[in-house]
Amino acid sequence: MSSISFLQQVDRMFEKAAAHTSHPEGLLKQIRTCNSMYKMEFPLKKDDGSIEVIQAWRSEHSQHKLPTKGGIRFADNVNEDEVAALATLMTYKCAIVDVPFGGAKGGIKINRKNYSEAEIERITRRYTFELVSKNFIGPGIDVPAPDYGTGPKEMAWIVDTYRSLTNDPLTAAACVTGKPVTLGGVRGRTEATGLGTFFGIREACSVEEDMTKIGLKTGLADKRVVVQGLGNVGYHAAKFMQEGGSTIVGLAEYEGAIHNPDGLDVEEVMAHRKATGSILNFPGATNILDSSKALELPCEILIPAALESVITGENAGRIQAKIIGEAANGPVTADADAILLKMGVMILPDVYLNAGGVTVSYFEWLKNLSHVRFGRMSKRFEQASNERIVRAMAGAVGIDLVDSEMAKVTAGADEIDLVKSGLEETMAGAYTEIREIAIRVGTDLRTAAFINAIDKVAVSYMELGIFP
Ligand code: NAD
Repeated sequence: MSSISFLQQVDRMFEKAAAHTSHPEGLLKQIRTCNSMYKMEFPLKKDDGSIEVIQAWRSEHSQHKLPTKGGIRFADNVNEDEVAALATLMTYKCAIVDVPFGGAKGGIKINRKNYSEAEIERITRRYTFELVSKNFIGPGIDVPAPDYGTGPKEMAWIVDTYRSLTNDPLTAAACVTGKPVTLGGVRGRTEATGLGTFFGIREACSVEEDMTKIGLKTGLADKRVVVQGLGNVGYHAAKFMQEGGSTIVGLAEYEGAIHNPDGLDVEEVMAHRKATGSILNFPGATNILDSSKALELPCEILIPAALESVITGENAGRIQAKIIGEAANGPVTADADAILLKMGVMILPDVYLNAGGVTVSYFEWLKNLSHVRFGRMSKRFEQASNERIVRAMAGAVGIDLVDSEMAKVTAGADEIDLVKSGLEETMAGAYTEIREIAIRVGTDLRTAAFINAIDKVAVSYMELGIFP
């Protein structure tokens, strides 16, 4: 384990990048500082009638743009330092992908396996009550989302509680993202972080010059992949990497890991886990009882998608992957980062790579404020104009298209198509920006991403007239 805290690690990365900028010291300090931290302790009446005190936090790192935005995690090891570090990363992440929000993060210190569904609901609703009462939630203030240990169900409880406590009928749905589609969620949010991870890795693997440097060919087809964590992010990242042509050779969960150099089918492994309660003993695969050892398996791409600080100064030297795609937040410690860079490993940093979730959350927030489903106004119009073009071209070359073929080639974009295309464009555009900075400054991708974030947040502060 690294001796410095998660927040200190993030700040260390910030300082490394800040040294390449020429912003005044005071402005850099303001960008780095975590503006607000609300620590709460509240009682939970358990199903057996006993009372337990629950600890929780919400941190708003920067209000240079509003609302602030960031997930809520339910984990038994969550603490104030971690929440502040994750809120800080959110500020930089939003800047990198041009999402006009400040950074925030929430955490509730519980292991959800120890609580009934009804208890989890009471905890989530009480947490929301605390946020409302201290003005730490609202469509223009601070907008939570899912993170480790939370999903659409918790987001539904949050919006319902917020609605019942506030007089905000027009914009209330935008107080939280990652909601079920029936409650104002957007199609594509569930898989957004995993899909964004895939788009980012695919983009990096498409640059011949960079791939040649690490001894790889372009494309995903000849890449062996190991994924740690099969939750929302890890499962979707693994699924899209497999669909993109890579071979998934290792999968790790908290109960252990499995390895098969010939490939693992992600859906079959998930079905096996559902049926048996574990990924272990999957037909054809070798069990690895110490799950963390999966990180050291031979592969081209390693995707840590569980929790922070899993690659440290202790195990970094044994990593065999040429590319590390940080789907989780903070999976590589600052010590490990230095070792891996010396080893020539390409690290696609969390502040960029897992920004798919907040990007699509931004689309959901826009949808909630506009009260219109994406594609509703344009789908039929696009279809009709595509049809006119195709009919004219088919007529000119003497082809007779049947109706079913015509429908396929002329279909207008629906909400899911627009969300995915917006996400793809965002991830590709942000990668180009970061890569260009890395080349110009002569640094690694993480430092380049931080430089990009610092410059963008600095401009926002200047626009606010705070640092003329
Ligand atoms: P999740 O709760 O859906 O999944 C996490 C998975 O990791 C679980 O299946 C859990 O069993 C597994 N896990 C826990 N400890 C493990 C260990 N030691 N080894 C292997 N597996 C382990 O959470 P998630 O939403 O997928 O988030 C995962 C990471 O991605 C977190 O770091 C989170 O901050 C980050 N992230 C999530 C989102 C999002 O949209 N959900 C967005 C950005 C970043």
